[in-house]
Amino acid sequence: MALKRRSLTDLTISGQKVLVRCDFNVPLENGVITDDRRIVESLPTLRYILDKGGSAILMSHLGRPKGVDPKFSLSPVAERLSALLNLPVTLAPDCVESEVEKLCAGLQPGQVILLENVRFHPEEEANDPVFSAKLASLGDLYINDAFGTAHRAHASTAGIAAYLPSAVGYLIQKELKFLGDAVDQPRHPFIAILGGAKVHDKIQLIENLLPKVDQLLVGGAMAFTFEKARGHSVGKSLLDTESLDYAKKLMENPKLVLPTDYVCANAFSAEATPVTCSNNGIPEDLMGLDIGPQSSQHYAKIILDAKTVLWNGPMGVFEMKPFEAGTKAVAKAMAESSGTTIVGGGDSAAAVEQFGFADQLTHISTGGGASLEFLEGRVLPGIVAIPLIEG
Ligand code: AMP
Repeated sequence: MALKRRSLTDLTISGQKVLVRCDFNVPLENGVITDDRRIVESLPTLRYILDKGGSAILMSHLGRPKGVDPKFSLSPVAERLSALLNLPVTLAPDCVESEVEKLCAGLQPGQVILLENVRFHPEEEANDPVFSAKLASLGDLYINDAFGTAHRAHASTAGIAAYLPSAVGYLIQKELKFLGDAVDQPRHPFIAILGGAKVHDKIQLIENLLPKVDQLLVGGAMAFTFEKARGHSVGKSLLDTESLDYAKKLMENPKLVLPTDYVCANAFSAEATPVTCSNNGIPEDLMGLDIGPQSSQHYAKIILDAKTVLWNGPMGVFEMKPFEAGTKAVAKAMAESSGTTIVGGGDSAAAVEQFGFADQLTHISTGGGASLEFLEGRVLPGIVAIPLIEG
């Protein structure tokens, strides 16, 4: 029988105090949450625990505080979560020590406590075993549902699992299913689209994906390193010179697909006038800031013919209107595809949201760094901390 990570449905929850590591690292402006998606995404796991007669002790970090700093308090999260669950959510004054222990000891089934920012203690990021044990002592079971932090070996994401029966929550389960199946058991044609700034940042990803995909489409600034490697003029385009040799070697692989044209401008500015250039004709005074219309059309056709599509990294400077078309064309083709369409988090997830295609895709990963590391084939400490079971 195949092995799988133990999940919350494999545990008996009734009457138990369940410590849940969530990713409540939400964006804040003047103390107000500007995007509550991460809180909303925690709800299935939390509702399951409460419905099964458990109580929930929630842990999260917020930002990068240096010690205790009220600016990084989880108080706005407690308020928002309470509104979403339609239940009181008590914010503990800290995440460890006597007052918190007392609060957790008195917790009744159906009740929710949110511990204060775990990163107020340096022991969290140091994965300190004493701190992990203190956190663990507050509950009976541990569930990790913070995919966005699963690539970090911290006390509340990894260390704690050694002290309690542990499982992954629905969110991590979903990420493992979609990102894992896309790479390990894809329906073919399987294509990957990679973009972003530097080849160097994507080498591991390319190495892991190339043997598995039928085609690998390249866009974003990293395309110019490939153009330069094959002797094309790239003008003032962003180059990753340390990856030129790697790019040259990779060019020999017939699975690699490069743009045939680019949208260029004389400045990195939304006010600059866009000019379309062929892939071998970027003048000295221009820089490539998006894939061109012919490439967009070609990439869209490949996407529509594929059964599995995995996308990581924008095709151009999609944050600026004149250079958004390539990224938008990829997002649109994915939305129109009848195949499995997966966005590997970060900037491409933001682009899909920005262009309004998010609800037409199969899966948009909630992790930026975590999904990249997962797709690179690396071991995520927050996931391997959870036992494998037969299932
Ligand atoms: P990354 O973090 O490596 O995935 O890179 C994403 C960033 O690359 C986005 O902010 C894009 O605006 C930027 N980017 C994409 N294409 C280009 C380009 N041709 N020139 C400069 N920056 C780009």
